[in-house]
Amino acid sequence: MSRLMVSVSGVRGEVGSTLTPQVIEKYTLAFGSFLNGGSVVLGRDSRVSGPFVSQIVKGCLLATGCKVIDIGIVPTPTVQMAIEHHHAEGGIAITASHNPVQWNGLKFMDGNGRFLSPEKAARVYAMGDAGEWHLQDWQNLGSEEADTEANQRHIDAILNLDYVDADLIRSKKFKVVCDTVNGAGGLIIPRLLEALGCSVTVINGDAHGRFAHTPEPLPENITELCEAVKQEGADAGFAVDPDVDRCAIVDNTGAPLGEEYTLALAVKLVLSKKMGRVVVNMSTSRASEDIARYYNCTFSRSKVGEINVAEKMLEMEAIIGGEGNGGVILPELHLGRDAPLAVALTLQQMAESGKTLRELFLELPQYHMVKAKVSIEGMDPDAVLQRMADKYKEANINLLDGVKIDFENSWVHLRKSNTEPIVRVMTEAPEMEEARALADRFMQEIQSAG
Ligand code: MG
Repeated sequence: MSRLMVSVSGVRGEVGSTLTPQVIEKYTLAFGSFLNGGSVVLGRDSRVSGPFVSQIVKGCLLATGCKVIDIGIVPTPTVQMAIEHHHAEGGIAITASHNPVQWNGLKFMDGNGRFLSPEKAARVYAMGDAGEWHLQDWQNLGSEEADTEANQRHIDAILNLDYVDADLIRSKKFKVVCDTVNGAGGLIIPRLLEALGCSVTVINGDAHGRFAHTPEPLPENITELCEAVKQEGADAGFAVDPDVDRCAIVDNTGAPLGEEYTLALAVKLVLSKKMGRVVVNMSTSRASEDIARYYNCTFSRSKVGEINVAEKMLEMEAIIGGEGNGGVILPELHLGRDAPLAVALTLQQMAESGKTLRELFLELPQYHMVKAKVSIEGMDPDAVLQRMADKYKEANINLLDGVKIDFENSWVHLRKSNTEPIVRVMTEAPEMEEARALADRFMQEIQSAG
């Protein structure tokens, strides 16, 4: 049985086993009490289990005196924007993000529209685990209202961005295929594309939550989209995960660019228009770093996790950033990963350059990444990482989040898992063989470090 995952990215578990009504109840009662019964935006992705989770969440929020603003089936970034729109004290997105259909979970947001800070999240979880919450009496129970306009406001906000010239994009009449994997994206991505004058073919567009394929938008899961782009002779293909914060791009030849290049393209577009700082997480491709250097812009890395990137972006006053897994963050819109935004920025770049996606991709720094994991059963993960840190202390090493070692043309990032006895090994190099060899080398070194 899988474990319940409780982290800065929220709470996730499998329905019928780890994500029980009791788990949903204790953390939501804690969250409602933590907000002192303020107003809370509630949205969910399209999972079949969504109504079950939603009704418990709503009941708990009402019990702690919160005003619930239910925005229905929406992307996670739409919840974040709706919090700002309503000046709410917080929000909850009911989703297990890219996890398969049997999962669901809760992403907790603060009144600023960002995820709860790691400190606040820890406080809410501790309150939930300790049964520390405050139930209101019958006169002070919360109330409920619906807002059905959140998706449309999200689309309008993107069309109104300075970086997006909607008329120019419309004039190109792009042919686009999108795969929203029966997630919340079906309710926003096709509408956005139509608003940008695209002729749109939608696959897996019904937001019924029975995902047509493994929902993480990795190349191996989006073959249907690649095929459709080829068949249609489309200019672009876009795949999003069920809660629409991650976007993967397929080029006009039907080749998946890999999620890392969604952010690289966005960084290039933004920096080509404006000087400013860039923040990405430790595991993100060096492509964005090279682009920032090309434009003489300051580049920083944060710990992995959307809230960590968002907080670092705020601190650095960054103008663009995100995570290499297809998560683009533009503070001008809001400080969270946003797939509809990534779609619009990509089309903008195609429209203003007059180049195909293949051509745009080939102009970007070329890297290959390997994501592997190595079993450390019976070993202490912190001790293993410490030994690796000691061994490479003379190298260009960063210990902010696990162990990251930068070499001249490549890097390796080692992180422990909080749920399994493994160390994740991520490498990147200009050639795939080199990235593989580097991963193999570090996997061996980790095992012998035990
Ligand atoms: Mg997601």
